This record gives sequence, C-alpha cells and structure tokens, in this order.
Amino acid sequence: MDGNKTVPGLIRHSRCKCMQCGTISQVEERHGLDLTRCPEGKEELLKGEFFQWRCPQCGMEADNAWSCWYFDPEAKLGIVLVPGIGSSGGEGAVQAMDRDLEGLGLPGMERRAVGNFYAMQELVRARDLELDDRVIQLVKPLIIGRLQAQGELVWNGFFQGVADPDPSEEPIQGVLYASQSQEPEYGRPIYLYDIHLTNRTVVHAGVNEMIFQMCQGMLEQLGEDRPEDGKFHLYDLDWAIRCHDRMQG
Ligand SMILES: [Zn+2]
Repeated sequence: MDGNKTVPGLIRHSRCKCMQCGTISQVEERHGLDLTRCPEGKEELLKGEFFQWRCPQCGMEADNAWSCWYFDPEAKLGIVLVPGIGSSGGEGAVQAMDRDLEGLGLPGMERRAVGNFYAMQELVRARDLELDDRVIQLVKPLIIGRLQAQGELVWNGFFQGVADPDPSEEPIQGVLYASQSQEPEYGRPIYLYDIHLTNRTVVHAGVNEMIFQMCQGMLEQLGEDRPEDGKFHLYDLDWAIRCHDRMQG
C-alpha cells in the first residue's frame, strides 16, 4: 500500500485511555470508507482489525466505534455509522440523515444506518451474497433466544456468511435446524452468525435454509418487505425482536 497517500478527513488520530490500567495509546480512526476514494476500504472493514482495540500495556480488549461513512457505488450500498445508534429511539437521527442528504438519492440505492462496525460488516457481507439484510436480522432473535435459554448473556450477533456443508457430515454445532418432516434438514446452505456474549466471548451459531425461508416469509407477512426507497433505514436486533413480537400479537 502507498504509505504517502492521504485523503483529507479519512483518517484521524485520537487518544484512547484504557479503562483498566489508564494507559493512553493512539488510535487511528478511519472515518471514510468510500470505495471510490479508498478501494481497499472494503477489505479492511471485513478484516475488522482497525476497530478492535487492545491495550498495549495490560492487553484489555474493546471494540471501538466512531462516526464513519461507507459507500460502494457499484454495489449501490451506503452505510452511515453513528456509534451506539439503535432502532429504538434512533428514528430522529435517521430522519435527519435523510434531510441532510436530500438530493443525493440514487435510485435503487440501499441506505442503512448502523451503530457499530460489526453491523457495517454484516451489511457488506449480505450485499455480496445478495441476501435481504432484513431477513438476516429476523433470524437473530431465534438464535439468541436459544442461547439465552441456555443461560448465556448475549450482547448481539452478526451475520458472517453462508456455508454449504456436505449432508453426510456431522451437523454443525450451534446451528438451528428445522424441516417440514420429522427429521431435521442437514446439508442445505447454513447461514452463519457470530454471537457476542457480554463477556466478549464469541459463539458460532447459525440456521439452516428452512429457518431462513421462514424469516423471509415473516418479512412479507408483516409487510416489511418494502422496496428500497433510497432513504436511510436502521434494521437491528431490536427491530427484529419487535417484528417477532408483532407476529405473536
Ligand atoms: Zn490497559
């Protein structure tokens, strides 16, 4: 990579104080992941190292988030990160984004708001696989609900990709399998998620095609399968939980 290349406003240096030992270290904040200006932005985002912070002194780990903009015109995907923003209570901020960027709308453009870098990664992965990110959200309460029933304390979970395991192999641990017959359906594509526990452990989990399709059906039943209107939308775990609640009610 060309070390001399500088894009104004893209990288900002800040200082970060360790919550555990008080050591101050420098953080390189990437504020712009506009692929037209930094083509390597996508790869760096998916690698995810730049926002995972580790104290050089005591080794304490944390995830960092700062305001950031991801733009991939080829994939027609624009994501704005507002640290900590969520679908409950974040409506005002999302509407403000629409006002601020009025006139910049591109037809068919998918615009999303997220509260952390994991959610940004998730959207990029979903777009690459041409999966509906709303369905990806709707799967989460099912996986997380099961882990919570097992006594785990869950912070959140994020989609990682699709695997196509050999049906003759052992079923993947941590994957929910459903089927129309009595026997669970193994071997179809598996939608993989990393579930983050509150103690920073990551649990690998997933669902089979059948459950993914069920969530697709749920999206349509709830009338949430609207075409892209070029505005910002925020679909997260809270949104998915509200959808599941509506299905029950
Ligand atoms: Zn420390």
